Amino acid sequence: MSRPAKIRKLDETVVNRIAAGEVIQRPANALKELIENSLDAKASSIQVTVKEGGLKILQIQDNGTGIRKEDMDIVCERFTTSKLQQFEDLKSIATFGFRGEALASISHVAQLTITTKVADDPCAYKASYIDSKLKAPPKPCAGSQGTTILIENLFYNVPTRRRALKSPAEELSRITEVVNKYAIHNSNVGFVLRKHGDIVPQVRTQHNSTKVANIQTIFGVAVARELLEVEHTDDTYKFKLCGLVTNANYSNKNFTLLLFINNRLVESTPIKKMLEDLYSVYLPRKAHPWCYISLEINPANIDVNVHPTKHEVRFLHEEAIIGKVKDAVDAQLLGNNASRTFYAQARLPQVDITKQALEEVIPEYSNAGNKEKPVHAYQMIRTDSSDQKLEKFNFTVNTSSANQSLNESKEVKSTIVTECKEEGQPKRLNPTKCAAEKAPNESSFFESLLEDCLPHQTSTQVENLAKPSTSYAPLDGNTKAQDVSEIENDEVEKAVSGGDSTTDEALKRVFQYLGNRDNIDYVKTIVEPGSSQDLADRHDGSKTKKTDSQITSPSKNATGETTSGSKPKKPEFKSYSVNATRREVKLTSVLKLRKNVEDNYHEGLRDILSNMIFVGCVDETFALIQSGLNLYICNTPKLLEELFYEIMLYDFENYGVMQFSEPVSLSDLAMLGLETEEAGWTEEDGEKEELANSVKELLLEKADMMNEYFSIIIDKKGMLKSLPILLDKYFPSKAGMPLYVLRLATEVDWNAEQSCFDGICRETAKYFSYVSRNDENPEWQNVTEHILYPAIKNSLLPPKHFAHDSTILQIARLPDLYRVFERC
Ligand code: ADP
Ligand code: MG
Repeated sequence: MSRPAKIRKLDETVVNRIAAGEVIQRPANALKELIENSLDAKASSIQVTVKEGGLKILQIQDNGTGIRKEDMDIVCERFTTSKLQQFEDLKSIATFGFRGEALASISHVAQLTITTKVADDPCAYKASYIDSKLKAPPKPCAGSQGTTILIENLFYNVPTRRRALKSPAEELSRITEVVNKYAIHNSNVGFVLRKHGDIVPQVRTQHNSTKVANIQTIFGVAVARELLEVEHTDDTYKFKLCGLVTNANYSNKNFTLLLFINNRLVESTPIKKMLEDLYSVYLPRKAHPWCYISLEINPANIDVNVHPTKHEVRFLHEEAIIGKVKDAVDAQLLGNNASRTFYAQARLPQVDITKQALEEVIPEYSNAGNKEKPVHAYQMIRTDSSDQKLEKFNFTVNTSSANQSLNESKEVKSTIVTECKEEGQPKRLNPTKCAAEKAPNESSFFESLLEDCLPHQTSTQVENLAKPSTSYAPLDGNTKAQDVSEIENDEVEKAVSGGDSTTDEALKRVFQYLGNRDNIDYVKTIVEPGSSQDLADRHDGSKTKKTDSQITSPSKNATGETTSGSKPKKPEFKSYSVNATRREVKLTSVLKLRKNVEDNYHEGLRDILSNMIFVGCVDETFALIQSGLNLYICNTPKLLEELFYEIMLYDFENYGVMQFSEPVSLSDLAMLGLETEEAGWTEEDGEKEELANSVKELLLEKADMMNEYFSIIIDKKGMLKSLPILLDKYFPSKAGMPLYVLRLATEVDWNAEQSCFDGICRETAKYFSYVSRNDENPEWQNVTEHILYPAIKNSLLPPKHFAHDSTILQIARLPDLYRVFERC
């Protein structure tokens, strides 16, 4: 039988080394302790230098209070601390983990040198330590206030530990992680992490920065722009929560959690699990969030002795507190909601205004019953902006013969019925049909509408108008402008002189209404400079004034009061960003592009747009709007392209992210793009595959920039993962994507910053402006009315050329329309 071996007491240095190894397991642990010491010493600047992942050199320099010379003897002995005097203090001090172990432990496994200076001392002192003890008395030396701690050859005397550590690169990345996390939590302190000998630091944050700014510096804009702020103070469980967590737009394949409890970086498996579970509701499988959570808990309720490194913590009421944290984060996620994936389109109520409007205005469409009820002319002006559509007035025009000319008006019986529907109860109409779908009759219906509206137009002019893709009479042309003002003068005259025809009577009432004092305010709002008059008048100041005053107050002297001539205001473009936080754009190229927009917009058109009331879609390309007393036909895609271009510029760097449920291959998209007619591919251009591949390569090269500025995320394999959100609830057509990708590569000038940004904004805007009307987008009319035109109304700064390239074209004045109806 073999005898038991003799039990011996281990040598003290071995014991100390083992103990030290439990506290300091790798360079990053040591650094964490040292950063905490610097922060406790109230430093506002902390600089870390590392060599070979901190194994050769790990140095931390701060500008804190320093260590008194008389304390330098014992500072590295075990259980020496300035932060705790008796065991009870462990429960009462505001922070935790002070057991005076860090420096002692380090001195057992490395060569440690401290250089420190307190404010009152004339010079600094330097001392080296080995196994907790001073090697020699501290020596005076030059130095500024604060402490520099130099650790050399970590684990030089623990070869097994040294071997167990992975590569210096791995250690450096762990060190970087610690610095990053402390830099975010302590944004008032400036942090620098540098590799020994390098000029450019690995990490640098500014003194007195903010958490969000530091998150952006360190983790990038993709995280920073998707942050939600979480705050909660709990009196029952006596804790305070502050957090910044990503919303449902953001996801990553790794879960990043920065958890601080009482200002110490810690780990808590239950908190981590709670967050993972919570986000699994909002994010797709295998997608993870980024979370920063800081808890301040009554120190008496925390047990930090669970683990020697003090990383893992336990606290009283853990379950209840974690539950509260969960509720607070959940509330933010819910409030911000938006798993805005590409396919999750918002559904709006089914409304089809066009069909209804045209059906009711144009005889051929009409099959509804009639109600005999007289209508006052003034009721035909939609005086309330909530009365947004023609449908509200339920026009019903009956003719005995559809082909009868308007001149035979005596034989044409018409009834115009006004039905006021209950407020907030817009009529739901059948969305399946629209005027544009009735292709064979379309132009004739439209022509007859125009003929009705424009009795003074020649038939050729009408024909031109009815085919909107052909050229229109330019808005700033003189002919029509003159026509309109002449008619106006005539009619005012007749109305005021009390002509006895029905039309004149109706007009008289309109003008009386408009001239009524009680209505003046309203009139002013609709005839603000530029809103009620013919666009062409804008180029002729005197005429404009005259026209305005005649319409607004016919009883007054025509040269009297005028509402025109206001000074150009500096335009403001509204932000449409769906992000919670906003970053200021300082790039001069973008600011210049914005200025171009502001310098070149047409004030008159802006007025028309800002006073517009949406009437209805004619088809995907054209829509009718009323502004003041005029009816305009607008080229929707042209307006949208400009709108989206401006949104691109004004929300630059601030777009939300529209994440695809499945990433799409750029080269596949480019291939499809090349197939399209618009691409105009010919054999001379080369093999399609090669071209598609070069498109992918080019865009891959620009991926970082596109991600940072444009929320266009492309992964390393060349898969497109997301596009920007330009307008909440608006999703561009999938069908346009191939051409968009192709054009990004071929049409954008990637060489100069400004033209590159301009090109990307322009191409993206082009893509977004295409509203497809097919199965993919059955609600294009709702989207056009309820999402797109309101944005155009609110913020589009229309470029000057819109006034003469048929983008916005006046087709009728309402008084003319009344006359038509009243005559019938
Ligand atoms: P603890 O932090 O638990 O007190 P440490 O071993 O980390 O123990 O530090 C021992 C003591 O050394 C601290 O209590 C503090 O007084 C002093 N000290 C350490 N680092 C610094 C520093 N950067 N600036 C000022 N004093 C420091
Ligand atoms: Mg310490």
